[in-house]
Amino acid sequence: MHELTPVIAIDEEKCVNCHACIDACPVKFCIDGSGDTVSINHDLCIGCGNCIEACTHDARLITDNFTEFMEALGRHEKVVAIAAPAVASNFPNAYLNLNGYLKTIGVADVFDVSFGAELTVKSYLEYIKDNGPDMVIAQPCPAIVTYCELYQPELLPHLAPAHSPMLHTIQLIRTFFPEYSNHKIAVLSPCLAKRREFDETGLGEFNVTYKSIKKHLDDKNIDLKAYPELEFATPLAERAVLFSTPGGLKRTVMRENGTLESAIRKIEGPNTIYEYLEKLPEMVAKGMNPLVVDCLNCELGCNGGPGTLNQKKSPDEIEYHIEQRRKKMQGKYEKGAIGKANLKKIVSKVVNKYWKPGIYGRTYVDRSGSNKIRVPNNSELQEIYHSMYKFEEADFYNCSACGYHSCENMAKAIFNDLNKAENCHYYKHRTSELEQENYSRISEKLHLEIERSSSIVAGIREAIAGVNDKSQGQYASLEESSASVEEMVSSINNASKIATDRNSAVQVLVETARKGEKDLNDTVAGIEGIAKSVADVHEMINVINNVASSTNLLSINAAIEAAHAGDSGRGFSVVAEEIRNLSEKTAENARTISATLNTMISGITAASTKSKATGNTVTDIIREILDVADGLTQLTDSMHEMSIGSGQIIDAITNLKDISYQIKDSYTDMSTGIASMDEALSTLSTISNDNVGTLQGELAGKKPTLT
Ligand code: SF4
Ligand code: SF4
Ligand code: SF4
Repeated sequence: MHELTPVIAIDEEKCVNCHACIDACPVKFCIDGSGDTVSINHDLCIGCGNCIEACTHDARLITDNFTEFMEALGRHEKVVAIAAPAVASNFPNAYLNLNGYLKTIGVADVFDVSFGAELTVKSYLEYIKDNGPDMVIAQPCPAIVTYCELYQPELLPHLAPAHSPMLHTIQLIRTFFPEYSNHKIAVLSPCLAKRREFDETGLGEFNVTYKSIKKHLDDKNIDLKAYPELEFATPLAERAVLFSTPGGLKRTVMRENGTLESAIRKIEGPNTIYEYLEKLPEMVAKGMNPLVVDCLNCELGCNGGPGTLNQKKSPDEIEYHIEQRRKKMQGKYEKGAIGKANLKKIVSKVVNKYWKPGIYGRTYVDRSGSNKIRVPNNSELQEIYHSMYKFEEADFYNCSACGYHSCENMAKAIFNDLNKAENCHYYKHRTSELEQENYSRISEKLHLEIERSSSIVAGIREAIAGVNDKSQGQYASLEESSASVEEMVSSINNASKIATDRNSAVQVLVETARKGEKDLNDTVAGIEGIAKSVADVHEMINVINNVASSTNLLSINAAIEAAHAGDSGRGFSVVAEEIRNLSEKTAENARTISATLNTMISGITAASTKSKATGNTVTDIIREILDVADGLTQLTDSMHEMSIGSGQIIDAITNLKDISYQIKDSYTDMSTGIASMDEALSTLSTISNDNVGTLQGELAGKKPTLT
């Protein structure tokens, strides 16, 4: 909830954060410029409206009560209007027609604030006469009143303790026009800040600016001249119709008291009045102040207030219409007057009829408590200056680009979080300069890196070319190796096959040898059987021999006996002889057989011995053959393994060949890539060279300058 009614709005969509409004604002710190768009602290805004014209982006909007006023009329509420003197310059030659128009839309009557201004002059002069103050600051301008309340409360005792012309007019209606005592009052005004005056005094319902009325008329295509002229309900004002013009108050006072001319300071304009007011306490202290300060916020006076369409017009054009009206009003009074003194009397008579002591008094509110703006001490200021890159006198441009008119004020705004260093012109330049320096450093580094990269790329290119050569050599070797290995595998396979065949043959040989061995063993056994049979025969021969020997003995004995037996024994002796012959022949045969047998036995024994030796030899041969067979088996196994291994070698070589192919393809891709990289690096190098050159050129002897 604001203590002061907002009179300005911001269209954030349109605000470009240019801070022209801060520049135009006489109090500055009611605007927060620390964000992406500005915002207003309405409790610190004096409602002067200077920012509206300053904003060329139409982001500042006036807030008046035109809509509520029209809605009230739409509801047939009782409304009277009062028109500020600037009406004559805002609706040239048609301000009385405006009254006629207002009447047609339901406004009960229209009163002239110029007459309220006549009453105001009376109030001031009465106050001066009765109180003899050191100084009276005129207060028709509510922006100046709010300024004093917020920012210079020490001036409040000097503000005229009388209402503004508008409030004099409203009080006049409430006091002297009982028929309108319940009517709401619409103030047709050139000013936004009037809203604050109504809020503070409880007088006045609608602040309706001339700008809004004009827009309404234009939007509805309404020609005021089509409406009848309607005189104001108030008595005629005389010179106070000048009140909307700078010095209007002074000229009206001069009518009353010409001796006051040098005692009145006429001063206006936002760039002048507030600085003037700042110094005023000092002037008062020195006794150098004027008696009356006739001051207005707006350069063109109320005629060119923020609620008018006159800001861009020449003061000559604006004031022409006001002067025309002054002449007209003065003329009306002069018609019945004889001489200046008489004129003054006639005006006084009219004014006095509506002036009563005490009904137009005004008090003020010290609002300085709302002003929470803190003033940084020296060390806080230094800290902020440093954050703005301000270290030495030359860094303080006081260029006003930030809108604060001095670096110190900007620092104060930053200290109060109402702005930021980034919005300082010098800071931006310095930042950009530092960024350029940094960028230059980076560019130089980049340049070096590019050169380094170029040489690395060249190295890579060479390395790749070398790899390619080697890869091609490797590929050729692989082709060769592949052929050799394939040949070798074929040989191994052949050898393996032969070894396998030989192994089979050896197995047959082993079988045959084993059979031979068996046959040989059988032969040895047969020979041994024969030897045994021969030995048996030999035994029998021995027996036969023994028998023959015995027979021989017996025959000898028988012969001897037969000899003894003589003739008788002769036969016997023949037999004995025969027997002896037989035994001798038998013995002889036995000896012969024995000799033959012995020969046979020797032969058989030799054959047996030989057979056994042969058997052993055969056994040895078989062992040897088996060894050979084992060897051959191992050989074929090895051959087989070698064959498998060779197959794997061929697979590996084939893989290697494939990889070599891929390397070859990759080389082509890499070569293309390296060529592109070369080109890119060369372009980069050129850009970087240009950059470094440009930056070095820009930085050489460069100091931030105002653009
Ligand atoms: S109306 Fe006046 S005081 Fe308020 S923001 Fe605008 S320039 Fe500042
Ligand atoms: S003058 Fe103020 S309101 Fe207008 S665009 Fe600039 S910063 Fe925004
Ligand atoms: S140098 Fe920065 S702070 Fe100082 S007046 Fe200029 S813009 Fe404002």
